[in-house]
Amino acid sequence: MREREKVVFIGGAGHSGSTLLGLMLGAHPEVFYAGEARKSLFLGDESKPLKKRVCKLCGPSCPIWGELGRAPGEDLYATLVRRTGRRIVVDSTKNLSWTGEQLETLSRRDVDRHLIFLARDGRAVVCSRLRKYPERSAREHAEDWAAQIRATEALAARFPGTVLRVRYEALASAPEPTMREVATFLGVDYAPAMSAPWTTEQHPLGGNNGTQFLMRGNEGGVVALTDKTRDHYGAHPRGIVLDLRWKRELSDDARAAFDEVAGDLNRAYAWGEEST
Ligand SMILES: [Zn+2]
Repeated sequence: MREREKVVFIGGAGHSGSTLLGLMLGAHPEVFYAGEARKSLFLGDESKPLKKRVCKLCGPSCPIWGELGRAPGEDLYATLVRRTGRRIVVDSTKNLSWTGEQLETLSRRDVDRHLIFLARDGRAVVCSRLRKYPERSAREHAEDWAAQIRATEALAARFPGTVLRVRYEALASAPEPTMREVATFLGVDYAPAMSAPWTTEQHPLGGNNGTQFLMRGNEGGVVALTDKTRDHYGAHPRGIVLDLRWKRELSDDARAAFDEVAGDLNRAYAWGEEST
């Protein structure tokens, strides 16, 4: 019997480790991690910044995205299965209207659909976003996090396929047992490369520069680090490291603003003090 095709969506809020999870999945020989597949809309669109419209790891001459060659009537995932020879495609786009459109398209053919809801302590997400977008307030970032989490919860409740919840903190602190669970969910055997994705060749669109720096082992091309990111990623050996910088970086004021906006919602997402 021919093995079934599968499309796997990674849902949740941005800055929750989805690039890491995607690359770990894409290290499996049957899985292609597309990255944020919605960025495929920008392929060849020179009005967009380069990093938004080319493969993050090999740039414009990418063997997968360079000349995608869509066949008429074929959806993006079918094209990627055909091009990569891998039957499972992972998409970590966070824009839920994109996900809804893709689910609608996929409902017209026989393909398994899965959602992995990647959850991370909302305070860590807000801290990470404040680092990247300091011009916005902690309150605004907390509101965005809460809205995205509520929308993803709603998607999980009506998702036309199976749903698995994964904690970023568990993934980063115990990669192998967590990826064994994810592999079982997808019906594939665990592959050791899933815990060492930098040993594999991958072609993601979009995603987190720090995590991709771990993949390449260097900067260059479209992977650029800020000074702060370089201090963090440049300092640790190549490996998967639980990022708990928020515990020392998030100010009392920012914590208070977060608690007021999203404290109740975060109860189900908080990573306990005892776990660190
Ligand atoms: Zn590439």
